[in-house]
Amino acid sequence: GTLAGIEFESLDFVWPAAVKDTVLEHAVRKIYVIDAKGKCIDCDTVFEMQHLYDACPKCHSNFKGILQGKELRVKALEVV
Ligand SMILES: [Zn+2]
Repeated sequence: GTLAGIEFESLDFVWPAAVKDTVLEHAVRKIYVIDAKGKCIDCDTVFEMQHLYDACPKCHSNFKGILQGKELRVKALEVV
């Protein structure tokens, strides 16, 4: 997700070394970036977050829970 703190450029850098001499060497890599979502604790509004410190767009509260966006997940690998 966008809040995972992963530099996708560095992933590009380590990927060829990581998959060398494996079946993944010729795999097509697809990266899905999951939009981060937070839920306001004060008014229950669910909203998309661009940054961890984003406030609620409705009541501008800074108290929110993060619903998703911190995970990094490999969803699919295609071997060609
Ligand atoms: Zn709110």
